[in-house]
Amino acid sequence: MTKAFGYAALSATTPLVPHAFERRAPRADDVAIEILYCGVCHSDIHQARNEWGIAVYPLMPGHEIVGQVTAVGSDVSRHKIGDLVGVGCMVDSCRHCDACHSDLEQYCLEGPTMTYATPDRVDGTITMGGYSNSIVVSERFVVSVPEKLDPASAAPILCAGITTYSPLKHYGVKAGDKVGVLGMGGLGHMGIKFAKAMGAEVTVFTRSLSKLEEAKRQGADHVIVSTDEVQMKAAAGRFDFLLDTIPVQHDLNPYLETLRFDGVHILVGLIEPIEPALHAGNLVMKRRVIAGSLIGGMAETQEVLDFCAEHGITCDIEMLDIQHINEAYERMIKGDVKYRFVIDMATLRAAQAKD
Ligand code: NDP
Ligand code: ZN
Repeated sequence: MTKAFGYAALSATTPLVPHAFERRAPRADDVAIEILYCGVCHSDIHQARNEWGIAVYPLMPGHEIVGQVTAVGSDVSRHKIGDLVGVGCMVDSCRHCDACHSDLEQYCLEGPTMTYATPDRVDGTITMGGYSNSIVVSERFVVSVPEKLDPASAAPILCAGITTYSPLKHYGVKAGDKVGVLGMGGLGHMGIKFAKAMGAEVTVFTRSLSKLEEAKRQGADHVIVSTDEVQMKAAAGRFDFLLDTIPVQHDLNPYLETLRFDGVHILVGLIEPIEPALHAGNLVMKRRVIAGSLIGGMAETQEVLDFCAEHGITCDIEMLDIQHINEAYERMIKGDVKYRFVIDMATLRAAQAKD
């Protein structure tokens, strides 16, 4: 065991606070990593505040991790000491079910082990995420960060990137397709970049007037203010795909009407019941599809990092001192971040040194 340090929520209603804990000594297939950067995902807020009802405290969020390998177990062959590596939302899965055999560990039939707030499959301890100075992860769940990528802005690719890349790829988005991206936050702004790189014509749906110019700067061809009924109605029947990153319950019906026949509305932001109710006619009358998608498998996570390196895609980040994590959460809820906070873990080390 080694001593580790980070920021954790001790309950659903209290802010994150400094927290000391222990990381396991590397097992034969493990990679030990010194964390350099960790992105702040809206899921971290959902979980820290138990908005999904599955939190376990102390809860240490963080699943957009980039760091350097400091030790490897005896069976590790993919990574060596000094390598720049990444860890995303999962740290293990059963490894033998149909999903795991199909490189879709996120859909593991026995349930993947998430990077935080999930029991470890071997020793039952609760996993602790990347708002910390170190992490120990089985090599199958550790990816290589291409040299071409800036390590800090690569961190959000591990969740925001893969979560938007995977469904666009799965549904075969191609040149000329019309893609709408709902919500321009961490996930949404990456969705714009991927859809553009795949050749699509991209429209951003935003409730934030302040993001109109920004959306264009991100590469969007058009912007629709989602709160403007006239603009929404004018878009009827236009889109092939909608990538919905909105993190709260919202009325899907006006969005569905913007899909053409056979259009697909892909949910990634929502895991709660859909409210208000869906009007089935909005699906039936145009053979439209509502779909959902969860992150991506490990092979695809490596693929998206390589895709980003090849296409010069990076995440727009705001560097964060970990001591300001609670303010950062409030700003994210207001949509006031361009477009991903990334914790510089040097600030954690500095805070620790002071204590
Ligand atoms: P952010 O907070 O960075 O962005 C969400 C965006 O949605 C905001 O920028 C805003 O865009 C829009 N939005 C926020 N609140 C509202 C609201 N009340 N009504 C309408 N629009 C709103 O979040 P992330 O991008 O980090 O995450 C988005 C969601 O995706 C979260 O729920 C997260 O848990 C989930 N997620 C799902 C994953 C999966 O595998 N399926 C993986 C990772 C995250 P604008 O200002 O443009 O309107
Ligand atoms: Zn995430």
